[in-house]
Amino acid sequence: MTASGDTARKMPTSNRTQGGGAVFKDKEKPEHVRDSNIVAAKAVADAIRTSLGPRGMDKMIQQGNGDVTITNDGATILKQMQVLHPAAKMLVELSKAQDIEAGDGTTSVCVIAGSLLDACRKLLNRGIHPTTISESFQRAAHKAIEILEGISKPIDLNDREYLVKSASTSLNSKVVSQYSSLLGPMAVDCVLKVVDSLEDDQVDLRNVKIVKKLGGVVEDSTLIDGIVLDQKTKNVGGPSKIEKAKIALIQFCISPPKTDMENQVIISDYTQMDRVLKEERAYILNIVKQIKKAGCNVLLIQKSILRDAVSDLALHFFAKMKILVVSDIERDDIEFLSKTLGTRPIASLDHVIQEHLATADLVEEIPVGTDKIVKITGIEKKFKTVTVLMRGSNKLVLDEADRSLHDALCVIRCLVKKRAVIAGGGVPEIEVHLRLMEHAQKLSGMDAYCFQAFADAMEVIPYTLSENAGLNPIETVTELRNRHANGELNAGINVRKGCITNIEDESVLQPLLVSTSAITLATETVRSILKIDDIITATGH
Ligand code: ADP
Ligand code: MG
Repeated sequence: MTASGDTARKMPTSNRTQGGGAVFKDKEKPEHVRDSNIVAAKAVADAIRTSLGPRGMDKMIQQGNGDVTITNDGATILKQMQVLHPAAKMLVELSKAQDIEAGDGTTSVCVIAGSLLDACRKLLNRGIHPTTISESFQRAAHKAIEILEGISKPIDLNDREYLVKSASTSLNSKVVSQYSSLLGPMAVDCVLKVVDSLEDDQVDLRNVKIVKKLGGVVEDSTLIDGIVLDQKTKNVGGPSKIEKAKIALIQFCISPPKTDMENQVIISDYTQMDRVLKEERAYILNIVKQIKKAGCNVLLIQKSILRDAVSDLALHFFAKMKILVVSDIERDDIEFLSKTLGTRPIASLDHVIQEHLATADLVEEIPVGTDKIVKITGIEKKFKTVTVLMRGSNKLVLDEADRSLHDALCVIRCLVKKRAVIAGGGVPEIEVHLRLMEHAQKLSGMDAYCFQAFADAMEVIPYTLSENAGLNPIETVTELRNRHANGELNAGINVRKGCITNIEDESVLQPLLVSTSAITLATETVRSILKIDDIITATGH
């Protein structure tokens, strides 16, 4: 990758030395640049090819600071991979785009793009102009989407079975696949709990909060209809369980104010010291009393970078008054908390009044592993939110479980957006291949060539799936193609049994949107790589 990158960057310099006009006369240069771009981008696609599918390998990524990540997710691998060549970076962006659009299929999209680039190279070698290829590919992609829509099966959000199957398929290819029977239904429940109505086609996944807690196993993960706070309660000797809670979410500090920057208060004798302490006590007590007066018995305090969110003296008073305090709530969590609790965060003491308090049936501190968390349940909700308490025996598994659940959530979100599923295991790609080939026969000229090349490129998914599963790829793909040609629409690669069977019986289903967006986005990226005929290094001024 690096070697080809160097050639690309050296090209302009060598040309410039030949004098101004030479750049435009050099016909070979755009070809070289295009070739080096294709090689670089393809190298990225090849790097993650082995991760595709349930039998795909995982990658261990080591970061500069020594952190290690183990993952199977294409977007995560590429995000952390150090990529130098500008064209290779386009593939990283491609998988990011797929991650945003569909959330799954991030490996597939790059593998497809790699294969399309290969096809481009062959077409270019035959002397077909890049613009012709680019336009033909766009038409072929449109046709492919039509074909996929044709073979898809509409579903309803009440078809829980289909939703769980789709979520489980996406989890099957993850490091944590053995837990797919727990995480699959959990993802479905999460999304169905936060979706406003069954007609709605948008899901805001920010309403699903995943709290990771080290210890236990992934199977111990639970879905909680309420809030889990990672911070434990603050006050020693205070209550750790409150029923019929009145909760205030505050953003101001309960600690002695600090002087302005650069200012100093100098205390010279003991009476002055005494006065300062007395003042502080009165100041804190006043705040605590006002909070108590509003009827609050659970206090959530936002983290402050300026001073202590809550002082020890204040904690002492709160403990005495039986108010449960959780401090250091992250700023990013405030939105989720206020949405779930149905209140606004309170920014000043004057606004701590009864109307601004949230109510919950139970707030309690519970031990989790070696640590503690605070759980708030029984909230009368205005907005729909849900929390998942994710457990895992080590950080690597825990992080991957989090990412995998996120993928499964995205799969269900896709189904809410576009309610159709298609079978997996290479079925969509082989169907696109066969029908595009049929269509190509009706075309003439360059278009026919390009459509055929596009159709052939699609076979990369079943080919890679069988390769990764240890099957003979050529044999498997040939058999798959034959069976589809004979009208067996659901024949797919059964990676577990190592043969071709009816894949729908195996419950391998995936959202239509994942496949269509993979083809559209991959084609778009390939087209833009094709149209680049020079790489110019900016001076950096
Ligand atoms: P991506 O990041 O692209 O989602 P995955 O590693 O999740 O990559 O692999 C997805 C591919 O694996 C899809 O083509 C899907 O059809 C296929 N697949 C998933 N589960 C199975 C299965 N049980 N049998 C066969 N193919 C499967
Ligand atoms: Mg996947």
